[in-house]
Amino acid sequence: MPSWIQRVLSAVFGSGSGGSADEALWFYVKCNACGEIIPVRVNPASDLIQEFEGAGDSVSGYSLHKEVMGRGGRPGRPCFRLLQLDADFDKRRQLLDVRVDGGEPVDQAAYASQQQQESADDRPSE
Ligand SMILES: [Zn+2]
Repeated sequence: MPSWIQRVLSAVFGSGSGGSADEALWFYVKCNACGEIIPVRVNPASDLIQEFEGAGDSVSGYSLHKEVMGRGGRPGRPCFRLLQLDADFDKRRQLLDVRVDGGEPVDQAAYASQQQQESADDRPSE
């Protein structure tokens, strides 16, 4: 088999272990207790759970469940709460719904602005 075909196949179906980094989905959840925004990396190949329609074997969609632990809260607000992220997807893996127990889903822009704020407020400790 020509090597370019193998490359295409492994890009489409994954290589079995390790997976490809560019397949990852990112969610951002904000903790209700401390306000910390936590990025959550999701690997669709291993994290999405297939949902089946009735008793048949056709996939009707996917669901996701992740436990999310922050990095210890925000400066001056230590917090080690465990958040629960749940999401539903349709059978084409388009996101339908996101729920966060103990927090709320936010977008990447909110996370980026919190990161900026913290580096302005606070000298990086490393
Ligand atoms: Zn928190």
